[in-house]
Amino acid sequence: MQKTALITGITGQDGSYLAEHLLGEGYTVEGVVRAEGSGNRSRIAAIEDRLTLHTADLLDQASMARLIERVKPHEIYHLAAQTFIPTSWAEPIMTAEVTGLATVRILDAIREVNPEIRFYQASSSEVFGQAEHSPQNEKSAFRPRNPYATAKHYAHSITANYRDYHGLFACSGILFNHESPRRNEQFVTRKITRTAAKIRVGQANELRLGNLLARRDWGFAGDYVRSMRLMLQLPEPEDFVIGTGEAHSVGEFVEAAFSYLGLDWKQHVVVDSQFYRPAEVHPLIADPRKAHAVLGWRPQVSFEGLVRMMVDADLAALGEDGQRVRKSLHAA
Ligand code: NDP
Ligand code: GDP
Repeated sequence: MQKTALITGITGQDGSYLAEHLLGEGYTVEGVVRAEGSGNRSRIAAIEDRLTLHTADLLDQASMARLIERVKPHEIYHLAAQTFIPTSWAEPIMTAEVTGLATVRILDAIREVNPEIRFYQASSSEVFGQAEHSPQNEKSAFRPRNPYATAKHYAHSITANYRDYHGLFACSGILFNHESPRRNEQFVTRKITRTAAKIRVGQANELRLGNLLARRDWGFAGDYVRSMRLMLQLPEPEDFVIGTGEAHSVGEFVEAAFSYLGLDWKQHVVVDSQFYRPAEVHPLIADPRKAHAVLGWRPQVSFEGLVRMMVDADLAALGEDGQRVRKSLHAA
């Protein structure tokens, strides 16, 4: 039987990788886009003719229910969210609506329209926040430290509530940071690889960053979307921590990107207090043993591999100069 998947946030980093993955698995893939969104469809441009896109408002439950009724999906992957932590401080209520409350609207629409539909919630390691212990697993306490994390905490809990009380097949992947050449440029990894590539071809000279000691468990987005589909194929719905189990500092990411390009980062990186976080989270490191054992999921791209993939893509986007540098790196 050919399955139909409906993806919210299909225009984002994960949405685009997940759509490609599900098409490869033989799914019919449909996506929700917003009428007044960023309008940036570049991440799905290569596959857009194989997708069906629908306009609906995540904050309007009736519009979501009508859409679900029309599409009749077997699986819904809810990835849309306001995802940037500094924006969540600037716009906490919008973040609560989009990142938190949209989830219950979709869950309730599923309950009304067809409770057999399987639901995936993109939860976040940010829910661990002020973690007492590292690494974190599915049993670790939630202590969110910012409005994004608090909204994700709500979305995570309401997903479990609808599973336990209404019997829906609803589950959350507690995702640790995952990056790619499609990562939004506000996030530190992409900011580093894009600026380092520009410095290498002479289009920039300096990179201003905040806390170089901040640590994250960074993986490759293309690996993480595979876990989403695997979770919805289980006999029973369960939540899973998804991460590499390995943490690196922002400084280590900088060092890896600059040294790959043959640059000395100390000559270009300027620490700027405007990029410091008021409430930094404790070291967030995944304990993904449950995902290894139950899903058979393991990431395939290493930290070094991720940095190089992102630098290579940013070089390639810089025209002839960038492509020449990229070739020389690969020839070396
Ligand atoms: P992106 O920021 O790349 O994509 C976000 C998506 O949400 C875009 O498609 C965007 O649409 C959509 N969106 C944002 N606001 C709205 C809105 N008001 N109404 C409708 N759609 C909206 O995120 P990622 O792909 O990186 O992340 C996917 C999910 O995984 C998110 O829920 C995120 O919180 C979660 N997650 C991600 C992690 C990561 O490291 N990447 C870690 C942990 C969790 P548009 O293109 O129109 O702006
Ligand atoms: P997050 O984990 O979702 O907040 O992902 P980010 O990529 O935005 O931030 C990861 C870490 O990098 C945080 O601890 C930030 O404090 C740190 N960081 C250091 N400098 C910067 C910067 O210039 N921009 C961003 N976004 N983060 C930075």
